[in-house]
Amino acid sequence: MKISKRAAGITASATLAVSAKAKQMKAQGLDVVSFGAGEPDFDTPAFIKDAAKQALDAGLTKYAPASGSPDLKKAVSEKLRRQNGLDYDPSQVVISCGGKHALYGAFQVLLDPGDEVLLPSPYWVSYPEQIKLAGGTVVELRGREDNDFKLSPDQILKAINQRTKILVLNSPNNPGGFAYTPAELKSIAQGLVDKDIIIFSDEIYENLTYGHQEFVSFATLADGLIDKTVTFNGLAKTYSMTGWRIGYAAGPQEIISAMGSLQSHETSNPVTFCMSAAITALQGDQTCVQQMRDEFAKRADHMFKRLNAIEGITCIKPTGAFYCFANVSACYDRLGVTGSLAFSDAVLDKANVALVPGVAFGWDTHVRLSFATSMEQIDKGLDRLEKLLA
Ligand code: PLP
Repeated sequence: MKISKRAAGITASATLAVSAKAKQMKAQGLDVVSFGAGEPDFDTPAFIKDAAKQALDAGLTKYAPASGSPDLKKAVSEKLRRQNGLDYDPSQVVISCGGKHALYGAFQVLLDPGDEVLLPSPYWVSYPEQIKLAGGTVVELRGREDNDFKLSPDQILKAINQRTKILVLNSPNNPGGFAYTPAELKSIAQGLVDKDIIIFSDEIYENLTYGHQEFVSFATLADGLIDKTVTFNGLAKTYSMTGWRIGYAAGPQEIISAMGSLQSHETSNPVTFCMSAAITALQGDQTCVQQMRDEFAKRADHMFKRLNAIEGITCIKPTGAFYCFANVSACYDRLGVTGSLAFSDAVLDKANVALVPGVAFGWDTHVRLSFATSMEQIDKGLDRLEKLLA
């Protein structure tokens, strides 16, 4: 049997080997500390779960429009206007089975073979594979570590040519844990207004910023930008709803309609009663969001300080999302390894601590540690790492 070239061209996730091994070790009864999580460790707030239960009891168990329920589109459109200053009509919103699905659909409806996508690096693992699956070509733009991995407007502008179709921006960033300031984004935005490209602004971590870091939606930053930006978001990270699979995109009518048509043959609607609860989440009391953010902020600071206190490890201060992206390459010799995959494997074997190798995000010198776990686990894991590298 032969699988398609398209499927064969996808790189199996480099994170998989380590996480599968960590799970296996846990199943064997070993006390493994995992810094691998890409999801908040909190439960979904009770008022949102109650809304889903009520939706089930009310019989919201049937098909809905493939591009999402009109009520949720309206609630998203209102949220984007209220919180983000973005003026998208409900017809410019598509609801998908998670932010990942929305991004997948958008690449599918926009890319033809030969089209290039500018992808800032470090990048979230799914972008390059989704771009390749849609027939596009990834053009990696490496951020400078001494600039918190951020790109300058110049670096982006120089990379644009006739084949460039899309620029992907993800701030706050997974895996980097950094976020662009509004001023930095504005100067990027100003450089792009007269360029014939589409910007994907992945704002899934918008509510998770720390310290003085401010969040701003990219499409608000220059006149006319809203006509060439697709804004992506979802409920997973903000409301600890990763398993509910509700994400969305808002953008130019033509793109959103094409995404809806694609979904009608692909998944049909996102889960009907989850869409109903998502309305409650967006319109309800937002104290839970603040509480989760405050907890993440404490952990961010703690993990950052502890990592930098380990000889050979350097890490930028996390200002967004829930990750520390640490440069561990100076420790490779100590463990007799030459890359992030072997490093993570050795740390798991010798210290029972699971990390995500940076090679999965384009940086083989780094590892990603999620602080979406308790302070106690953070200390336990970092004590072990410190001891191993001493
Ligand atoms: N974008 C980024 C940068 C992410 O890190 C994730 C999840 O890890 C997503 C999008 C998709 O999230 P979901 O599909 O759970 O909404």
